[in-house]
Amino acid sequence: MFGWRYYATTIIFSSLAYLATTLVCLVAIKSCNNKKETPKPEPLAVYSVELDLEWCETPRHSKQFLIPKYENTVQILDVCEVSALAVSRSLYVFYQNWVAWFGDDTGEVRHMLNNLLIEWGDTKRTVHSAYNIHGRLIENVRVTGLAIAPNHMWVMRGEKGIGTSSFVHELVHLALWNVYDSADPTHEGGEDNLWTKEHTEFINETKDLLFLIGDRYLADPNYNMDTLRSVMESSLRYGEVKE
Ligand SMILES: [Zn+2]
Repeated sequence: MFGWRYYATTIIFSSLAYLATTLVCLVAIKSCNNKKETPKPEPLAVYSVELDLEWCETPRHSKQFLIPKYENTVQILDVCEVSALAVSRSLYVFYQNWVAWFGDDTGEVRHMLNNLLIEWGDTKRTVHSAYNIHGRLIENVRVTGLAIAPNHMWVMRGEKGIGTSSFVHELVHLALWNVYDSADPTHEGGEDNLWTKEHTEFINETKDLLFLIGDRYLADPNYNMDTLRSVMESSLRYGEVKE
């Protein structure tokens, strides 16, 4: 949802609250990445985003900060609430389906999912430029998700749950970023061909299933994982669930 060009441009913080949040993110990422080599520290001016004034004025680090069943995966909540269990199960659906479509022989996608920082917001953000799904550059675009670093995403909460947000889309950027060292911001366009039509189809299928189940069930501890797996097997194209 964003162009690499704005990594190099100056970041615009609209609130000190966001700056504080970002610093927390950087610390979290640094402490999480223990498998790979320590990444070069990203300069603070990594992307240029104008934040809506109301965005993240009251960041909360609640007990939902850690995503269950993932080693070091955390989420930061601002004014909106997103169930950590629903996020955990969404990551499960994403990974099982990703492996069925694209594989993960190196384990890099699994590692990313276990060391992920998820920021949720309630309003769109404006970026200087981004590419649409066909690779066409658009300027001053309002976005619902950003792949900020290989294990750091921001996503606007979906009005009707995780399946209606850009959560899966941004996870694909991060997966490509970890596997190929490029998030492929041009999507199906550009010349690198990392992001293919299959990735777009994968996103649509995964989002449809998450929407079908809905956050209410994904967040319900009584919703059985066996039920989830059987729904996946009957709804997904490859329907492979390994665990
Ligand atoms: Zn994108």
